[in-house]
Amino acid sequence: MRRACKAIIGPLTDYLEGDACKEVCRRIEEHLRGCERCQMHVDNMKVIITLYKRWRDVKIPSALSMRLRKIIAKEMSVASPSSKRLSKRQTRRKK
Ligand SMILES: [Zn+2]
Repeated sequence: MRRACKAIIGPLTDYLEGDACKEVCRRIEEHLRGCERCQMHVDNMKVIITLYKRWRDVKIPSALSMRLRKIIAKEMSVASPSSKRLSKRQTRRKK
């Protein structure tokens, strides 16, 4: 993964939830225009977040909300292989 991609993955959830500041939004949108991989990733995230928000409106059980957050976290780790390796190592250490 390119460094430019890593830089936008961090604030991506804020951006998609509309919580990111103008400067961050501009930087992410600029990057997405030139990066097909991140575009695809953002599309996936958008679907998840749209579903998540729809369910949140009807007051979903916290267990389901937790599960959705895990799915989002997984999406993020797929986009960032280094953090995936790290979490695997951490699980192994617990056992
Ligand atoms: Zn990218």
